[in-house]
Amino acid sequence: MIENNGYIPDELHEECGVFGVYDLDGNDVVSTIYFGLFALQHRGQESCGIAVSDTNGPKGKVRSCKGMGLVSEVFTPEQMESLNGNIGVGHVRYSTAGESSIHNTQPLVLNYVKGTLALAHNGNLVNTPQLRRELEYTGAIFQTTIDTEVIAYHIARERLNSKTAEEAVVRAMKKLSGAYSLVIMSPRKLIGARDPFGFHPLCIGKRDNAYILASETAALNAADAEFIRDVLPGEVVMIDEKGIHSDTSLCNQKIAKCVFEYIYFARPDTRFDGVSVYNSRIMAGRILAQTHPVEADVVVGVPDSGNAAALGYALEAGIPFGMAFVKNSYVGRTFIKPKQSMRASSVRIKLNVLPEVVAGKRVVMIDDSIVRGTTSAKIVKMLKSAGATEVHVRISSPPFLYPCYFGTDVPTGDQLIAHKHSVEEIRDLIGADSLGYLSVERLSDMLGGDTGFCDACFTGNYPIEPPSENIRGEYEQ
Ligand code: SF4
Repeated sequence: MIENNGYIPDELHEECGVFGVYDLDGNDVVSTIYFGLFALQHRGQESCGIAVSDTNGPKGKVRSCKGMGLVSEVFTPEQMESLNGNIGVGHVRYSTAGESSIHNTQPLVLNYVKGTLALAHNGNLVNTPQLRRELEYTGAIFQTTIDTEVIAYHIARERLNSKTAEEAVVRAMKKLSGAYSLVIMSPRKLIGARDPFGFHPLCIGKRDNAYILASETAALNAADAEFIRDVLPGEVVMIDEKGIHSDTSLCNQKIAKCVFEYIYFARPDTRFDGVSVYNSRIMAGRILAQTHPVEADVVVGVPDSGNAAALGYALEAGIPFGMAFVKNSYVGRTFIKPKQSMRASSVRIKLNVLPEVVAGKRVVMIDDSIVRGTTSAKIVKMLKSAGATEVHVRISSPPFLYPCYFGTDVPTGDQLIAHKHSVEEIRDLIGADSLGYLSVERLSDMLGGDTGFCDACFTGNYPIEPPSENIRGEYEQ
């Protein structure tokens, strides 16, 4: 039996989603940002915010609304009415560094000598403590515990010695180490920046005469915009009344896109750096069918990200695909976590099994990952209770062995089941009849041959030296 005594959630979270718009025709952008954030809700459900400004109005007049909760909970029609402006940025947040509180919500709005900056950030820096100390020793006072404020301060400082805001961003980026996809609103410009490794996505879209920056292409679709291109790893793009300008002076190193964006975090209807997330999941399922075949009657996927991989497995193996799980999509932040005595039912609230699909059948169950194993054990048990005669678990990622420092909450090794147990032991612990993982060697095949990705949580091969100090909440005492 697998214990989860601290009631640590057995699922992974992305840190954040970012969105920015500049409408050159002067139209209000708040509803576009709202729809964009709505489409990015899966990337963060703790808090969200929107900041807008008018490029033709007084410099530095920024209207913002932020709060704890889902996009649909935080923004009221009255607030939306009051957020007038033709340029703006938005953010959805899940905290992997810095506590979950109203102080740490984004976009961060900063007034300084050159005007106002509003920042929204996805990712984690690994040198936050050093950068923060550098600022504190020269008099900076911080209002939040998030690394985004450190980025904002460094940009503001560099701006004093730079001709333009985008030049200040490039100069600040030379000091930053880690993962960041940024959208920044200055009084007259929208700026997007992606760290040189390109850990997390950032793309550019256009609708009529409005330019958009978004974490995922699915958010462009929601805003009825057409995809133009991805922001390159290391690139800074600046949008002003003349259109898009680009600085690629930092685009010169090995790329390390987060491979788990494809496996789990991103929406299946997103394309990340030219690779379809849906196709990569189908391919992961096909590879699993090749490397871990089994005699079975039906293939089922654990929603949501397991579904496409299950279809891929079914297509490759010639086994029927079935929809065995009914998911409650309305389990949001306000869901009250069950007490110790009620824990067994927490998965059941989110997922229910259709006996019609699995009773009397040998089932292949595809999931995207196993973190601590508690959820997998419950789902296998639910399938067997519904009458499955055998449950063969296939995982569309390699075993998690190492923590992530780049904006996702893959925990430290001792909390990962694969760190302490062999595959056969995990199979036994989760009650499956067989268990197979996607191999590290086939991750590139999953991405159509792309090799520029990070797989550190599976291999320990970190593209950047892991931080020597705690970067998760060091300043919260
Ligand atoms: S360590 Fe894992 S989760 Fe973190 S960026 Fe790399 S692949 Fe993504």
